[in-house]
Amino acid sequence: MRAAVLREYGEPLSVEDVPAPEPPDHGIVVDVEACGICRSDWHAWMGHGEWADDQVDPGQILGHEPAGEVAAVGRDVDALSVGDRVAVPFNLGEGSCPACRRGHGNVCEDGYALGFEQTAQGAFAEQVAVPHAEFNVAQIPDGVGLDAVAALGCRYATAFHALAHRADLSGGDWVAVHGCGGLGLAAVQIATALGGSVVAVDVRDDPLDLAEQVGAAETVRADQTGDVSGAVRALTDGGAHVSVDALGRAETCRNSVDCLRARGKHVQVGLTTEAEKGEISLPVDEITRWDVSVLGSRGMPPSRYDELLRLVDSGRLDPGALVTQRVGLDDVSDRLAAMTDYDTRGIELATEF
Ligand SMILES: [Zn+2]
Ligand SMILES: [Zn+2]
Repeated sequence: MRAAVLREYGEPLSVEDVPAPEPPDHGIVVDVEACGICRSDWHAWMGHGEWADDQVDPGQILGHEPAGEVAAVGRDVDALSVGDRVAVPFNLGEGSCPACRRGHGNVCEDGYALGFEQTAQGAFAEQVAVPHAEFNVAQIPDGVGLDAVAALGCRYATAFHALAHRADLSGGDWVAVHGCGGLGLAAVQIATALGGSVVAVDVRDDPLDLAEQVGAAETVRADQTGDVSGAVRALTDGGAHVSVDALGRAETCRNSVDCLRARGKHVQVGLTTEAEKGEISLPVDEITRWDVSVLGSRGMPPSRYDELLRLVDSGRLDPGALVTQRVGLDDVSDRLAAMTDYDTRGIELATEF
């Protein structure tokens, strides 16, 4: 089968003919119909993460946001059949550790990161294998298209888990979203669907226009605003109840914490870059003084994916509205390169393999 393989950091992915995967006894193989292209792919492609022992090794098939049809099932899989339409989360659990058994498969002790490790080859390929499939995949409702599910990708799953499960967002809350790339725009749309009022922050007009289209009540151009957190506090009558750093830079993280009201909740979903290497200075005395919560959030428990799919099926979430480009496997590298200059907007999908 054809697959896009990382051979050298920062160089175009090598589109190669590789052996098609076989399903493990507990797994399935999926014919990939669409796969989102994501900033996490870009981090892997750039070779980031060495400082956190999280660097993706050459030889990896990237791609972690697939949707498709089941092509083969392992001998121990009963609940899935060939032809089923499935969503595949990137954070795959093994289904039986204490975290998985409590419904937190996103932080499984022996989990897999699809498309980021050799034992979980990714979905910029004609087919992808999914381990522990009954635990990990969700069947897609009839009314939801595969493109829309690929567009959900890790960004909607991550944003949904961050807002609904971690920050416990309530209707009427003010929500600040710092950084309006794919993940940030998903957070804007989900926060709005859950009843929040959103202030979107970015340094570019295009993503802020998109943010308004998907529900943002207010926008802030960070580069034209001397005091970003002050501007957000003014727009939210004293500060956001919930704020999300969807970018992972020192400035956006700090602005996110600083723009909260008393008892506000900061959720970190963007991963840091080489500049921060995972370390950002925060005002801990202020965090303590005002009962502020600083939360981390990773992906979404696979067992709760159905909540997100129901939001899409109901029409309250429309990830397809953020799809701006569909490309073939040979063009994925170009789209990753465009991310270096932040020259992408909305969500881009690989749809031809
Ligand atoms: Zn587990
Ligand atoms: Zn992703």
